[in-house]
Amino acid sequence: MLTVPAYAAKNATDPLEPTTIVRRDLGPRDVLIEIKYAGICHSDIHTARSEWGPANYPIVVGHEIAGVVAEVGAEVDKHALGDRVGVGCLVDSCRECASCQQGLEQYCLNGNIGTYGSTGRDGEPTAGGYSTHIVVDQDFVLRIPEGIELDVAAPLLCAGITLYSPLNHWNAGPGKKVAIIGLGGLGHMGVQIAHAMGAEVTVLSQSLKKQEDGLRLGADHYHATSDPDTFTELAGTFDLIVNTVSANLDLDDYLGLLAVDGTLVEVGAPEHPMPVMAFSLMGGRKSLAGSGIGGIPETQEMLDFCAEHGLAAVVEVIGADKINEAWDRVVGSDVRYRFVIDTSTLS
Ligand code: NAP
Ligand code: ZN
Repeated sequence: MLTVPAYAAKNATDPLEPTTIVRRDLGPRDVLIEIKYAGICHSDIHTARSEWGPANYPIVVGHEIAGVVAEVGAEVDKHALGDRVGVGCLVDSCRECASCQQGLEQYCLNGNIGTYGSTGRDGEPTAGGYSTHIVVDQDFVLRIPEGIELDVAAPLLCAGITLYSPLNHWNAGPGKKVAIIGLGGLGHMGVQIAHAMGAEVTVLSQSLKKQEDGLRLGADHYHATSDPDTFTELAGTFDLIVNTVSANLDLDDYLGLLAVDGTLVEVGAPEHPMPVMAFSLMGGRKSLAGSGIGGIPETQEMLDFCAEHGLAAVVEVIGADKINEAWDRVVGSDVRYRFVIDTSTLS
């Protein structure tokens, strides 16, 4: 077993603190990864603050992991010492159910094992990327292509795949009008990916403060949702809207922006339920859908797509001493566009 430095939440309200955690001994199919960078996802905050139900404290979060293979088990054949690799939100699944058979491990019918907040096969709680090392079964370790630096690769493992998967599934591409609500960690990847897929992309942000960035990332249009005219001007416009917002929105307002047969996909996961009027869906045969991260094959496809199109996250790299401040800034929508922890500062 390996004892390694980490940052943990001890309860729902106090700041995270330095600690140590134990990583399991390498099994024959396990990979030991020296984590170089860990992205800060809003889900880390929802989880550690028990906004999605009570967390099991102490908890070490982080599911946007980029690093280098430091050791491999005897039967490992997919990864080698020194390889640049990533781990996202999943570290295992049943591998047998209909979802797993299709590479949709995120929808494992028997319950997948999350990178943090789950119970691992060894019966111990899983602990995430705010640490220096992690041991993961080789099948849940992704290859980071040449050409994407590790710091800007880390956020692809959650933010990247969470937007790639719905954009891919609902066929964002030439001739499609796509809107992304919220220009945060997920949203800024969504704009880049939808643009690279060939769609006409609109950002719906609370204000115009980040308009220049949004257009630079590939948006064709940018609107402030604080301006009521936005909702009249854009009524009936979009084939696909992806909502990345971490707080409750009035979904009826946004469903009004869909074209006939359009789909609004919820990827944001706010603490509280969001009501919807049936009429908002009926008037235009509209769909309200959800999408959760992506499976392992699609995550690799996304990484390769990003490399091919020169896409990566826009990051602010921070030391461990800035994690709590960064969390406050994420909650205040003051992130441009992903905080990434340099894990060498944890020890
Ligand atoms: P983030 O970086 O905080 O981005 C969220 C953005 O939403 C903000 O930057 C802001 O953009 C907008 N926003 C925040 N509060 C708002 C409010 N009160 N009203 C309107 N807009 C608001 O968060 P993230 O890491 O991208 O995650 C976003 C959400 O997705 C979280 O709930 C997270 O848990 C969830 N998530 C889901 C999945 C999945 O698999 N479905 C995966 C990862 C994360 P503007 O300033 O541009 O308005
Ligand atoms: Zn995440």
